[in-house]
Amino acid sequence: MGTIIVIGLGAMGSSTALHLAGRGHRVLGFDQFTPPHSYGSSHGQTRIIRQSYFEDPRYVPLLFRAYELWRRLEVDTGQSLLHITGGLMIGRADGDLVARSTASAERFLLPHEVLSATQIRRRYPLFKVNGDWVALWEMDAGYLHPELCIEQQLRQAASAGAELHFNEPAMEWNALPDGSVSVRTARETYAADHLIITAGSWAPQILRELNLPLSVTRQVVYRFEPIGNIDLFRPDRMPIYVREMEEGQPLLYGFPLTGSNSDGVKVGLHGSDDVCFPETVDRTIRPADERIIRERIAEALPLLSGRLLHAETCLYTMTPDAHFVIDKHPEFSQVTVAAGFSGHGFKFATVLGEVLADLATDCKPAYDLELFSARRFKGVQSFQH
Ligand SMILES: Cc1cc2nc3c(=O)[nH]c(=O)nc-3n(C[C@H](O)[C@H](O)[C@H](O)COP(=O)(O)OP(=O)(O)OC[C@H]3O[C@@H](n4cnc5c(N)ncnc54)[C@H](O)[C@@H]3O)c2cc1C
Repeated sequence: MGTIIVIGLGAMGSSTALHLAGRGHRVLGFDQFTPPHSYGSSHGQTRIIRQSYFEDPRYVPLLFRAYELWRRLEVDTGQSLLHITGGLMIGRADGDLVARSTASAERFLLPHEVLSATQIRRRYPLFKVNGDWVALWEMDAGYLHPELCIEQQLRQAASAGAELHFNEPAMEWNALPDGSVSVRTARETYAADHLIITAGSWAPQILRELNLPLSVTRQVVYRFEPIGNIDLFRPDRMPIYVREMEEGQPLLYGFPLTGSNSDGVKVGLHGSDDVCFPETVDRTIRPADERIIRERIAEALPLLSGRLLHAETCLYTMTPDAHFVIDKHPEFSQVTVAAGFSGHGFKFATVLGEVLADLATDCKPAYDLELFSARRFKGVQSFQH
């Protein structure tokens, strides 16, 4: 079995290293920091996981396997990683969010219910909705603990024999004419049979020549103190949710109270126009950030209008269609690329590690990956490296 290098050991890279090492491959993994860390896309204590996928029903088979693998990781590590709370996708009856979520739920026979505005108000009084709004309630939605997931994936990968190098940035990679690869890090140059690049928001830099249309955006997440009865925010009373806002505004999403009362309740906006670079992103919280989120909360969840207890920035790496890029490099078959997770990748980390391990070892993945093709973007074939 050959040597495989993984550049980037965040959500996707840690899972990939685990799958490859588990299959007996020699794995060399590099990260510029020591994951889990808070400079990329995988921090902040919670990530939504759901199956009634409004983004595209083709994600659902991957999600079935993702759930299975998260549960397996829990068994293997003895850690509690995935918490089911149920999920609400809330929006206009004629809007995309509920219609598309319902289409995925129906097609894959997922346990779900479509709720009228009256039913939403009765069951979940925290949510403010107009009379003509509806919601898709999904039984199996919930949240993951991202830092713990990554920590456990790395630990399991190392126990399976992966050689993980932290604080060792990859500076350059080369696909060699004999079909192998070399990677020069800040310390040394390494040779391998295959290279997998899972560099998150740094993908535009390390995959510069591929010219993928990726843009990194600054996202802010907040934890507010509820006003009134905090018990309404506990996971047995409150599901994870995604909610449409006014036309053209990003979706609002959030979680129940997942920590102690003093941690506050997390909420965020899915997407922003604030394009940035990971090295120079403004990680301070601006008065305008708080003003806008408070306006959205007043519209959607007024009992969450207490003190702002915590806020932090995180990064999305967007593709133009918000679908992932998971593919062999168009020019070099010894290089596999996973990038552009567009703010919804974490829940897939387990299964995508398996898929990337398949691609790198010429095993046919069990899923239709057409949606994620690098070739769907214009100009990709004509790059030089
Ligand atoms: C605020 C926010 C909320 C989100 N909410 C959800 C959600 O609810 N559900 C969901 O499914 N997804 C969600 N996401 C998206 C999800 O978290 C990301 O899609 C996922 O974490 C991306 O994983 P990754 O492995 O690509 O990136 P990361 O985990 O950031 O890992 C990339 C790694 O590559 C390393 N690296 C980069 N370049 C180099 C180099 N040259 N050499 C060595 N190492 C390098 C970095 O240091 C980093 O550790 C959210 C994202 C954000 C920011």
